[in-house]
Amino acid sequence: MGIDGVLLTNKDIKLKGDINPEFLRQSEIGLPQKSELEVLRHYKSLSDKNFCVETGMYPLGSCTMKYNPKVNELMANLEGFSNLHPLQSDEDSQGALELMYNLQETLKVLTGMDAVTLQPAAGAHGEFTGMLIIKKYFEKKGETRKKVIVPDSAHGTNPASASMAGFEIIQVKSNEKGQIDIDDLKNLISEQGPNIAGIMMTNPNTVGIFEENVLEISKIMHKNGSLLYYDGANLNAIMGYSNPAIMGFDVCHINLHKTFSTPHGGGGPGAGPVGVVDKLKDYLPTPVIEKQEGKYIRNYNLPDSIGKVRSFYGNFGVLVRAYTYILMMGIDLKHATEDAVLNANYLMAKLKNAYDMAYDERCMHEFVICGEKQKHEGSSTLHIAKRLMDYKIHPPTVYFPLIVHEAIMVEPTESESKERLDNFVEVMLKIADEIKQNPEFVNSAPHNAPIKKVDETLAARKPDLSYAK
Ligand SMILES: *Cc1c(COP(=O)(O)O)cnc(C)c1O
Repeated sequence: MGIDGVLLTNKDIKLKGDINPEFLRQSEIGLPQKSELEVLRHYKSLSDKNFCVETGMYPLGSCTMKYNPKVNELMANLEGFSNLHPLQSDEDSQGALELMYNLQETLKVLTGMDAVTLQPAAGAHGEFTGMLIIKKYFEKKGETRKKVIVPDSAHGTNPASASMAGFEIIQVKSNEKGQIDIDDLKNLISEQGPNIAGIMMTNPNTVGIFEENVLEISKIMHKNGSLLYYDGANLNAIMGYSNPAIMGFDVCHINLHKTFSTPHGGGGPGAGPVGVVDKLKDYLPTPVIEKQEGKYIRNYNLPDSIGKVRSFYGNFGVLVRAYTYILMMGIDLKHATEDAVLNANYLMAKLKNAYDMAYDERCMHEFVICGEKQKHEGSSTLHIAKRLMDYKIHPPTVYFPLIVHEAIMVEPTESESKERLDNFVEVMLKIADEIKQNPEFVNSAPHNAPIKKVDETLAARKPDLSYAK
């Protein structure tokens, strides 16, 4: 029996004025008619099919899917923040501006940088902003430097951002330890030196290994007149122990939606603040938030600014969440770093008899498994990832970074307890065993998930988003 979800009581409304009859609906609108209860059940069942960090462990390498404390939400929803109009005057926005200013100052301490903008809306957006700043710096100096060095292990956003900012990318090789090959770097500099604007790096790098030659690299680059860009998406590997400035970097971004516990995934809002050393601060996007005579102001008067990179002042709600997290943690931010690194090393040590490690040395906040052994036994990285779903563990990042065959990138984050980590180990060892016994069974996973293995190419190329069956 049909149910009226919506009762249009006044069907005889007379329209005022003339509407071209061509534009008038001739038939029923045909919306699905469901009662409120049925609609709720529909959405509840959809959410039950979803996986989130509140469901189980989410070891998605390079994504830092840690726990986002709920108090962050409470703060972001305070009426004074959530109802404040972005065009309200400085005078009327003192609380919000104070929060932004304090967050900027805190990020300056954590990165060692001299000035910070909160405007970019994501990590990649921060990279793009940073590269525009580097471009402007050389323009102002009257130098044309068109090339940017990126390691072959880099996160894909790095070359993409540099390229969007108008640079040409040159790749520097990694050595057998997963670190930048210094000789290759020196060669690039001696061949193309005057044309090289900078290098984009992350440390720890994308295979979770600390670049021990970072100081030498920064010397080489600076001697060449180039700048160093630090991808600080995963600051929970070093926060409180080291920082990009100490390592010799000139520009960096930070992902508030990773290290500073604001929800992300599904393309939700994030924030990728950018920090710069003193000589680059005039190029930051406007407005910058300043404190003058005890009042907080938005300063638009920066003649050399690269201009705006986002509407208004960035994703303010994300800034509130990150600032809340920082205040709640205080000095314990250092402990978050310790736990992130300890947890990753614990997992690596427990798994290395059953799985090959891409680089068998101490890792930082994440590590990379090479699934070649399991591939020879008749399974593969993809199937292992899918099989994890049957055990209520989110699949890790797979087939990335590209320099590792059959890569499985594991980042447990600091949020997980020892019990959870042990459970992950147990499950991974069980899967390694299952592959030895019956690879077909693993290869046809997931068996218990609401949706079985999907055709990922078809899903990306021809997404079927219709509610109707
Ligand atoms: C996540 C990540 C990025 C990109 O950040 P987005 O906010 O997704 O744009 C860049 N670099 C590294 C190393 C990352 O882990």
